[in-house]
Amino acid sequence: MELEKYSFGIGDRFGFECAAQLRALQKAGESGIRIVPVWNKSNREHLIAGTVPEDARKAADKAVRQCGWTDSYYVDADHIGMETAGAFLPTHDFFTIDVADYIGKPVSADAASSFIASMSHYKGTLSIPNMPTPIQLTDQVLADFARKYLQAMSEAGNVYRHIAEKKGAGNFITEVSVDEARNPQSPAELLLILAAIAREGIPLQTIAPKFTGSFLKGVDYVGDPQQFDREFNDDLAVIAFAVSSFNLPQNLKLSIHTGSDKFTLYPLMHRAIKRMGAGIHLKTAGTTWLEEAAGFAASGGGGLALAKDIYRESYGRYDELCAPYLAVINIDKRQLPAPEQVAGWGAEEFVQALRHDPLCNQYNPHLRQLLHIGFKVAAGMKSRFVPMLDTCRDAIEENVTFNLYERHIRLLFMGQA
Ligand SMILES: [Zn+2]
Repeated sequence: MELEKYSFGIGDRFGFECAAQLRALQKAGESGIRIVPVWNKSNREHLIAGTVPEDARKAADKAVRQCGWTDSYYVDADHIGMETAGAFLPTHDFFTIDVADYIGKPVSADAASSFIASMSHYKGTLSIPNMPTPIQLTDQVLADFARKYLQAMSEAGNVYRHIAEKKGAGNFITEVSVDEARNPQSPAELLLILAAIAREGIPLQTIAPKFTGSFLKGVDYVGDPQQFDREFNDDLAVIAFAVSSFNLPQNLKLSIHTGSDKFTLYPLMHRAIKRMGAGIHLKTAGTTWLEEAAGFAASGGGGLALAKDIYRESYGRYDELCAPYLAVINIDKRQLPAPEQVAGWGAEEFVQALRHDPLCNQYNPHLRQLLHIGFKVAAGMKSRFVPMLDTCRDAIEENVTFNLYERHIRLLFMGQA
């Protein structure tokens, strides 16, 4: 099973928008850009939304039938490890092995010295094609890497073999993610991570590093775009080098997590992948749930009332909702409007505050992030939430397709402004 050059992780918190999501990819296809869908959902999101892995598979299959999609599609067990992989094995064909928790765990002296010896050929000043500054692979760099990352890559190997034993090698796509690490990985660290993964025998097709700057839920990139651009280009060069040097799959590419709404970065990424002829996988999830919320609000009446109630309860449960997401949100509580104030808003005011339009004065990224993690509140209101999806279906589907196609696909994959 070989993942195509361009793929889009279109996670759907509740699984009701898969067809509207798929239509965005169909529009890209009509414009001559082939992008395949990957429906990703983590164990954590299943627990919060009250769904099981099989639901994600059923929702994907249904959308594919409904839209007459004839190209490949995948269902991604996102951020799984040894304990959580099992529930996804029967239905999923894409596994994102998350080993961030194993970074810095002690590694045996034998494993470390054997890895370091295997890299002796690359030691010293290592020039990588298409990378302006060579990598310095000193003994110290190699020893530091082994101490920090080698045990994590060994765990990735364990999880990969566990999945392969059940599903059969070649019957699924493997991603390894270290995007939830505390610190970003340098291009040199990425190179060594790929070397270690190759030594584990993992047929890696996507790798999710942690990039410089902040990738926050549902809002634009926070950081220095020029520095990101340099590192992103270096990462692409490192991947191309690793593929040929370590015998990794030819289609290996970067996977960008928390990838929605990074409007500042898409033009840079587009230029870089075009320059290198590289593929890319962009992972999103909550941006679709926010379009459902915007669709409720835009519909007025009961939809708007529901959106306001979800906001009110999210505001009241602020600490509880933020806790699992502290690394990927940045909400200034003082910038959140009081629920009493929101209660007086009309449809337009609510939508303007929520919608990610950086040029709109009313746009409030704090409210947007709170509602992003407020899907837990919506999950608790299922008896109201699910029928209201039907009531507001037209507005929601239009939003979902528009958001993915106009704000994401056109910028990243097609290079249009
Ligand atoms: Zn991630």
